[in-house]
Amino acid sequence: MAGHIFGRSTRGQLPTAVAGDGCYIVDADGRRYLDGSGGAAVSCLGHSDAGVRAALHDQLDRLAFAHTGFFTSEPAERLADRLCAAAPEGIDRVYLLSGGSEAVEAAIKLARQYFLEIGQPQRHRVIARRQSYHGNTLGALAAGGNAWRRAQFAPLLVDVSHIAPCYEYRDRLEAESVDAYGQRAADELEAEILRLGPDSVMAFLAEPVVGATLGAVPAVPGYLRRIREICDRHGVLLILDEVMCGMGRTGHLFACEEDGVAPDMITIAKGLGAGYQPIGALLTSATIYDAIAAGSGFFQHGHTYMGHPMAAAAANAVLDAIEGRDLLARVRTQGDKLDAALRARLGQHPHVGDIRGRGLFRGIELVADRETRAPFDPARKLHARIKAEAVAAGLICYPMGGTLDGVRGDHVLLAPPFIIEDAQVEELTDKLSTAIERALAA
Ligand code: PMP
Repeated sequence: MAGHIFGRSTRGQLPTAVAGDGCYIVDADGRRYLDGSGGAAVSCLGHSDAGVRAALHDQLDRLAFAHTGFFTSEPAERLADRLCAAAPEGIDRVYLLSGGSEAVEAAIKLARQYFLEIGQPQRHRVIARRQSYHGNTLGALAAGGNAWRRAQFAPLLVDVSHIAPCYEYRDRLEAESVDAYGQRAADELEAEILRLGPDSVMAFLAEPVVGATLGAVPAVPGYLRRIREICDRHGVLLILDEVMCGMGRTGHLFACEEDGVAPDMITIAKGLGAGYQPIGALLTSATIYDAIAAGSGFFQHGHTYMGHPMAAAAANAVLDAIEGRDLLARVRTQGDKLDAALRARLGQHPHVGDIRGRGLFRGIELVADRETRAPFDPARKLHARIKAEAVAAGLICYPMGGTLDGVRGDHVLLAPPFIIEDAQVEELTDKLSTAIERALAA
């Protein structure tokens, strides 16, 4: 099925998706694929959710679109209220967008405008972390620390400092306690703020659980709390990017709840619309909003499709499902089962170095040598082989690996729908094990 569409799907001979059925996607030849990664941690309700479909039909019958330059809408207002009610302390304004990159881009610009409004125009620097991903638009790409994605566009990217991620498996020293490691990793932020000059730094941006670049790596306990203290000490805003790990994926609506940290801004997307509509959001504190409201009066930013009623209707229906069907508890129990199944099946595998994650957000790190933790030669492209073998076995998972310094080794990210059944946990684990064996044998 070749056409004039250009993008990833025309790069190779990919199957054509024609239908969704719970945790499965069906292609034009009738083959069924278990969606073990929800695409890229998107499809948290599977592919045929009756509640979301009904809500979308209903909204379409009422109103598809009204430009936010002229109108607000009931679904957008309701969604904003609900997100604020559920968000960590201090968060109480919502800026609705169409995806994750837009949310991150808006966060960076809002931080800048905030400091202008409060009379600190010298603050313009962002600090983020290596081995992170925050989106593909230029501001978000500059913030991200994925060397491979950045390389071609480097001359176009604003200067962002990158410190180390909190990556226990690779970076904790043998003699170091988990607490000491978390503190050391967080203290890199303070050193970088001091190096740049505290008055020039506006924000620190990080994913509480690193998704696309490392494969579900949560920060160690205490790390984010110390990061919060450091930000406070230097008047730096803390922006948490929960585009992948938020909206229930870890078993909490916001991943940072588990870390006991309230940021100044949170970005969400992916699971917010569960794939039924493109939507993202920037959640921000009253302090930031109020400074802008009292100053120039409006955030100098905007997109045509922001606050889209159809997208907001989908997100409201997703929240209805999460609340009404107690899906956060389900994420925790099914996540534990997935973790146990992965450990039983792959825990002793000579090329599985680490199994990690929270809730239904799990990662596996593959290594050439378990003892030394040496990664495979990137030229082998193990992650790409695993992806191809998984697809051949009828499984969608999200392997990734490094070809430049930004990523060390090969990982597989798993983020199945919250509705995954026990039998499907087994199916996922079986098919993944098969794909890994076949990829290693190739
Ligand atoms: N931030 C994070 C943490 C992400 O994982 C992603 C997407 N993988 C983005 C931002 C960008 O989101 P989008 O692709 O919707 O622009």
